[in-house]
This record gives sequence, C-alpha cells and structure tokens, in this order.
Amino acid sequence: MTAQPEIKFTQLFIDGKFVDSVSGKKFAVINPSTGKKLCDVAEGDKADVDIAVEAARRAFKFGSTWRTMDASNRGRLINKLADLIERDAEYLAALETLNNGKPLAEAQFDMVCAVNCLRYYAGWSDKIHGQTIPADGNIFVVTRKEPVGVVGQIIPWNYPVLATSHLQYFVSQIVMCAWKFGPALAAGCTVVLKPAEQTPLTALYLAHLSVEAGFPTGVINVINGFGDTAGAALTNHQNVQKIAFTGSTQVGKLIMETAAKSNLKRVSLELGGKSPIVVFPDVDLDEAVTICYNAIFANMGQCCCAGSRTFVHEDIYDDFVKKATAMAAARKVGNPFDEGVEQGPQVSEEQYNKVLELVESGKKEGASVTCGGNKWGSEGFFVEPTVFADVTDGMRIAKEEIFGPVQTIFKFRTMEELIERANNTYYGLAAGVLTKDINTALTFAQAVEAGSIWVNCYDATMPQTPFGGFKMSGQGRELGEEGLHHYLEVKTITIAVPQKNS
Ligand code: ADP
Repeated sequence: MTAQPEIKFTQLFIDGKFVDSVSGKKFAVINPSTGKKLCDVAEGDKADVDIAVEAARRAFKFGSTWRTMDASNRGRLINKLADLIERDAEYLAALETLNNGKPLAEAQFDMVCAVNCLRYYAGWSDKIHGQTIPADGNIFVVTRKEPVGVVGQIIPWNYPVLATSHLQYFVSQIVMCAWKFGPALAAGCTVVLKPAEQTPLTALYLAHLSVEAGFPTGVINVINGFGDTAGAALTNHQNVQKIAFTGSTQVGKLIMETAAKSNLKRVSLELGGKSPIVVFPDVDLDEAVTICYNAIFANMGQCCCAGSRTFVHEDIYDDFVKKATAMAAARKVGNPFDEGVEQGPQVSEEQYNKVLELVESGKKEGASVTCGGNKWGSEGFFVEPTVFADVTDGMRIAKEEIFGPVQTIFKFRTMEELIERANNTYYGLAAGVLTKDINTALTFAQAVEAGSIWVNCYDATMPQTPFGGFKMSGQGRELGEEGLHHYLEVKTITIAVPQKNS
C-alpha cells in the first residue's frame, strides 16, 4: 500500500478551536479499503451543537468582526481558504482517498473542484445587492439582501462535481464542504457543519485551514457526529435559521418536518436520484458507451446524479450491451492509492451490503447479468463492476437507488414511450440524452422532469450552473447565483420623504 497521510485532527472544531466533545465520547472512522479502523474522532451531540450554535450566533451578532467586515474582505478570506486548499492539495487528496476509498487521481481533481467553487463564490461576496423600487406614495424604497443567520449544514460522504463527456470528476467531502461553505460565507452567514460520520477527516482539516485563512472565530464550526443525534440537534435548533442538507430522500423528509416543527427554519435539500441516460440510434456507439459507463461507474456509482437507468434504442441495444459489458469487465478495481486503479471500495460496509442485496434482487427478478454481479476481493468493501441487461421497469434495480457500480440497461422504441418511462419515478435530479439530432435532444430535454439535463455529455456540473432536483430529488438549487438565494433574506426599507420625484 502506498504511503498514507498522517491524520492530524480528530476533535470537534468550535469557536476557532479543536475541542473534545462534552460527553467525551468518540467513534471509529473506518478505512473502506481494509474494513479496519483508521482512528477515533470526537462524537458531538446536542450539547456540542448548542455550544457551536452559540459561537456561530456570537460571530453573527450586530457589530461583530464578521458583520462589520467589508463584503470584499469576506471574498478575500474565501479566496485565502481556496489558496490554502491548493497549497495542501496533495495531502488533502490522500486523506480523502484514505477515508472514502476513491482513487487518488480522482481525489486530486476534487481539490481543483473545491478551489474553483470557493473562488466562484468569493467573487459574489461584494456583488449581492438589492433594488430601489418606485413604490406608490411619498416614499423611497430600497431592498437589502441580508444573510439569513446561523446555518446548519449536513452533508453525506460523496457528491459529483464536474465533468465533460470524456473525463469525469467526482467529489468527496471536501467538495461538499466547498459547495456549502462558499455561498454561505459569501452571503455573510455563519455555519455549523456536520460532516458524514463515515468521512469526517477532510472537513476537520478544512476547519484548521479556516483559522490560517483568518476567518473570525465562530464563523466556521465543524461537529462530527451521527445523524440522529448531532444532525437532529442542528435541525431542531431554535437559533439555527437555515439547514442546507445533502443526503437521502428519507432523511430529507425528516429534516423538513423537524424544521417546520421547530422554528420554520429555511431548508434546502439535495437528495437522491434514479437518473435516466438515453441513447438514440444515431450516436457514435463507442462514444455513447463510454459516456454511459462513466455516468454510472464513476465514484463507485456513489453519486446522487449517477446515470443509473441506461435507456438504449432497440436498433442498437444488443451491440450496446456487448460493448458496455466489455468496458465494465476491463475496469480496474483495487487499492485506490495504486496507479491506474479506476474503482476503489464502496464507502462503508452498510453501503456494500445494500449494493450486493440489490444486485441479488436483480438476478432473482430475471435481469441478465452480463458482467460482475459479486463482491470483489477478500477484504474491504469492493463490488465487481456489474452490468444488467434486459432490465424492466418494475424491477427493484429499476426503481431503487443502488448507489453502486451497477449499470442497468433498458430497451426503448419510441420517444413517447421513453418520456413516459423516464419520468416514471419519484426522483428528478438529472438526465442525459445522447443523439446527433438537435430536435430529438430538445424534445427530450423539455419533456424530462429533472433539474439538470446533459446533452451528449453527463455530470457536467460546474460552480457557475445551478444544480438540484425536481420532485423528491430536492428543494432549491445549489451552485450558481441560484445557490446564493437560500442564504439570503430580503429586507424592504421604506422611507417617508417630504416629496417624491419619480
Ligand atoms: P447517505 O445515504 O448518503 O449516507 P443520509 O441521508 O443517511 O445519506 O445521511 C446524510 C447526512 O445526514 C449524514 O451526515 C447523516 O449523519 C445525516 N443524518 C442522518 N439522519 C439524520 C437526521 N435524522 N437528522 C439530521 N441529519 C441526519
């Protein structure tokens, strides 16, 4: 195994300092490549969340360093944080690979994604402004966009970020942090972040970098812990004004319910998906097979917007399946630190078992396994790259989010039937369409119910472009200008004047 990075931070980060949890409890962080413990980290719960929220409130108070700082200086701090990630990118990438099992080359690119996202939002800091409004009467009206306040941010262990049709890059905890910190800090909020319990290590290192960048204490806080304790305490908190959540649809529903019952805090949600990627017969077949392969296999299939339902036109179905099978069979699985490895382990034993259970259900329900279909190796949480052909819409593998390296290939005949079937899901995160015909592409793009449509590419998500789901894939959008709105309140200031001059 390649040299592994030293784990430097394992406590909670509150009010500018690393501290133990109030309870003194810790939990184990597991290396998914071996199934063995990497280290213990402090386990935060309600008591720690209360302290962190109080620190974030102090940092947000009228007259605080953060609230009196020029907006342009907020942007400079965010840029400084990006500089520091760039400086320590090699270390951070290795830490990410160690903790979540993704191939090192992908983790290295994740750092670029995180930096790009932070720089994009750094630029917004002093460009967030309201309007003057020609309202009726002897009045002068302005609106201000103000930060919403203390924000709770709850993130999972994975997320897709940026790709083209040929190169796919997938993110990790560090990019999730950038997606969350970037807009919140640009807007002027203060944050309490709860990383995923499986992957807390890079978020803690980022907290350390925030001190070096010069953020005032209390602006950024990180509480490791579990969802039903630390996560629920944040969601329930009366002094948290917004929750930004990324994770499962099931937990997303809980978050909305808890937010409503507590203080009606604002909620934005990025949830699951079962995204269709459709292949028309006029494509270059090799190119289409490659795009579909990357859409599902990248990041071990652990992407909310993975192209997890591959619809192929009947005229090219058999050829497509043959080529897709060959491509999956050639995928190099192994130690994510080894050069050339394309697929590491699933992030946790729980996810690994879930993927294998769904694969078994596919076999039982009559889909044909043309590649893989089993666990891989003798230790760690590895799954063989798997391809199912002859998948029908009623099967569990067609309906449930697998979150694993499992391609399911469906056959379709007409556009009409395709649209019906593509939309026949509670999800609506993303969709892809591969064709040389602009009319075909636009018909599908307009008809499909999803937040991101990629034409002749997939996973092309960038800091500048909004990302999020229709239907049960989420609420609101992240990234781009849209991503800022969730962190802002609009204040209308109406001033009586002796005489108007309209
Ligand atoms: P995934 O399936 O991607 O792990 P989850 O929705 O289970 O997604 O978890 C995503 C994040 O939500 C994690 O940080 C987890 O700890 C947190 N979480 C889980 N349950 C709750 C809850 N009841 N309240 C708040 N956060 C939760």
